[in-house]
Amino acid sequence: MHIRTRFAPSPTGFIHLGNLRSALYPWAFARHNKGDFILRIEDTDLERSTQEAVDVIIEGMSWLGLDWDEGPIYQMQRIDRYREVVKQMLDAGLAYPCYMSEAELNKLRDEQMANKEKARYKGLWRPEPGKALPPVPEGVNPVIRFKNPIGGSVIWNDAVKGQIEISNDELDDLVIARPDGTPTYNFCVVIDDMDMKITHVIRGDDHVNNTPRQINIMKALGGTPPVYAHLPTVFNDAGEKMSKRNGAMSVRDYQKAGYLPEAILNYLARLGWSHGDAEVFTKEQFVDWFDLESLGRSPVQHNPDKLLWLNHQYIQNADPANLAIATKRFAHELGINTEAGPDFVQVVGLLKDRANTLIEIAKGAKLFYLPAPNLSSDQIKENIPKAIIPALKDLVDAIVTSESTKEAYAAAFKQVLAKHQIKMPTLAMPVRYALFATTQTPAIDSVLVVLGREEAVKRLSKVIQ
Ligand code: GLU
Repeated sequence: MHIRTRFAPSPTGFIHLGNLRSALYPWAFARHNKGDFILRIEDTDLERSTQEAVDVIIEGMSWLGLDWDEGPIYQMQRIDRYREVVKQMLDAGLAYPCYMSEAELNKLRDEQMANKEKARYKGLWRPEPGKALPPVPEGVNPVIRFKNPIGGSVIWNDAVKGQIEISNDELDDLVIARPDGTPTYNFCVVIDDMDMKITHVIRGDDHVNNTPRQINIMKALGGTPPVYAHLPTVFNDAGEKMSKRNGAMSVRDYQKAGYLPEAILNYLARLGWSHGDAEVFTKEQFVDWFDLESLGRSPVQHNPDKLLWLNHQYIQNADPANLAIATKRFAHELGINTEAGPDFVQVVGLLKDRANTLIEIAKGAKLFYLPAPNLSSDQIKENIPKAIIPALKDLVDAIVTSESTKEAYAAAFKQVLAKHQIKMPTLAMPVRYALFATTQTPAIDSVLVVLGREEAVKRLSKVIQ
């Protein structure tokens, strides 16, 4: 079987991280099976759909490297096709016009509620052999309803939830087209999944209730229902449904906050799927390992700390040159001119082991691009004790003659410490202060390498005159 999956987002408002998991899994399943992945934009809700949301989806997918083979296919551009199928269904007796007005439907619903019955359409306009239909009212545009099977049940073997059986008595005759002829949501999904030859529908479990209706329509049209895999909901760290209101972030927000796409992808992969106890893995490994059998059944919780931890792992293990490219824009935002000063790749290499985000790297880098400090005599007096000056002088001498490596500078420090019988902080703190007017810097030997011997000696010389 040639596997075909799809991501079918509705571009209606805020797209949080959990939403993109619904793109990641079908993408991975298609890639694992050398199949096709289709991007379909379900934009028939004209009032709520926005281009901005489409852009966020496309941008987020591209950033994460979730490429698609077909699309984006916009449902609004397929309206003629849906109308065509509605007509075919009417002609084939699979659907029928229903003239019940909004007011009549409301009345029926109120009565059913009062009788503690489930609110459902009772088939007043459903044609049956030997049944007399009410007279067609004048000037009323009907809705079109699907003739749902009566009796029996819909059964499917959900790849996540196991076998699900829904009695047809629970399902009334679904409206597939509105009075103005526009097709309805569940109907479009079925036509698309059929036309696009989707073999596996992997989506959020908020759609479980739609599935029996979709299966019935598909079967009526002679189609074979795909495999369904309904993913458990992602809750936020407080156990609530993720939404903008309670602080969920979009992919774009994570990008702006200095996260790496590899970390986000790895994180999302584990949000409802596992491979043994693997926590950190590459995109290639994920594709290689992905299967529907290992999807989790229970709801999952978004864990920002874990995401930050993963981001740190990816930053720590990244190649400094690549990391520097990714960090540059954050550095520029902080006003750092990465061209004027030490080699930015070296600076990033120095900072990456302790950074959780690219912003943290950029902030740490700032130090190296500020002009040499212009220390006042008071600042010098306070931070560079007179007694340490001879040791500083020796250090300058040692630095000048040593190789420009971390190890050589460490040895230079060691030698001076031994000679003056002092401890590292006693020497390193004044050195830091002389170099940057702060005592907060990464390891001093590495700092010397990155800042450069010449610049370091120039700055130190100013305080030992
Ligand atoms: N458009 C639906 C949503 O964004 C998804 C529909 C589907 O995957 O079948 O929730």
